[in-house]
Amino acid sequence: SLVYQSIHDLDSGDLRKAEALARWHHPKWGHVPPHEFVPIAERSGLIVELGEWILREACRQAKAWEARSGQGVVVSVNVSAIQFAHPGFYRTVEAALEDHALLPELLELELTEGIVMYGVDHVTETLQRLQRLGVRIAIDDFGTGYSSFAYLRDLPIDTVKIDKSFVKDLGSPLHAPQFALALVEAITHVAKHLDLVIVAEGIETEAQRQMLKDLGCQLGQGYLFSRPMPADDLQPFLPMPPTAQRPVRDTLVN
Ligand code: C2E
Ligand code: MG
Ligand code: MG
Repeated sequence: SLVYQSIHDLDSGDLRKAEALARWHHPKWGHVPPHEFVPIAERSGLIVELGEWILREACRQAKAWEARSGQGVVVSVNVSAIQFAHPGFYRTVEAALEDHALLPELLELELTEGIVMYGVDHVTETLQRLQRLGVRIAIDDFGTGYSSFAYLRDLPIDTVKIDKSFVKDLGSPLHAPQFALALVEAITHVAKHLDLVIVAEGIETEAQRQMLKDLGCQLGQGYLFSRPMPADDLQPFLPMPPTAQRPVRDTLVN
């Protein structure tokens, strides 16, 4: 199943996007976390089929939110490097959008820099095709693994997500806060220069929100705003449908 976590404007607090996160409830083992089942699905090749289901389900949900609120909400979908490298990936995205009549602008794909192991040229070409279609591209967990600032410059992307480990270390004397601060500063500086939207993950405290906002991050996600939740629970965060808003003349009279 899928749950969704809201992503907010750090200044106004408004909902900007919702990230789809996969869940697996096994009858015997109970809740199996994605960091356990995603790598297994990748090794077995099942990730292609599973990823397609996730993509289609997230598009269906984004369309349902749009129908209910009258306004679209961008849904972000995590895509595994193996799924991305599959030759049918572009067509899968196109078909998921078409079948649910979802505007491509309402879909964002979250990829990690691990995709480049399949060749920067091939990756760039696929990302460019997706962007031409109108889909947004985000680099997830930036700052971990083999993250390179050159990828931010060279790959056609719209958004960079700062990994939650750095957000956690901000202001925490136990975990080298100066390093985390320097790193977040460096990422925001470079990302702004390249006109990328910056999202900070794992914001749990008001102090972290304030600090990240001051550092220039526009958007944020984390337990401070919401836990990942079933799609219906996201309803109160959505923009109100035009018919549910107060008529202008009432506002003027009062
Ligand atoms: P991610 O894409 O970086 O997702 C963010 C993770 O941080 C989620 O863990 C979310 O529940 C957690 N998180 C959010 N806010 C906070 C916070 O304030 N504090 C802390 N400590 N954690 C927070 P989750 O759902 O367990 O997912 C873990 C990872 O599994 C994801 O990291 C993503 O890499 C992968 N994953 C999840 N769903 C999918 C999927 O549909 N497809 C693929 N390929 N990978 C997925
Ligand atoms: Mg993600
Ligand atoms: Mg992440």
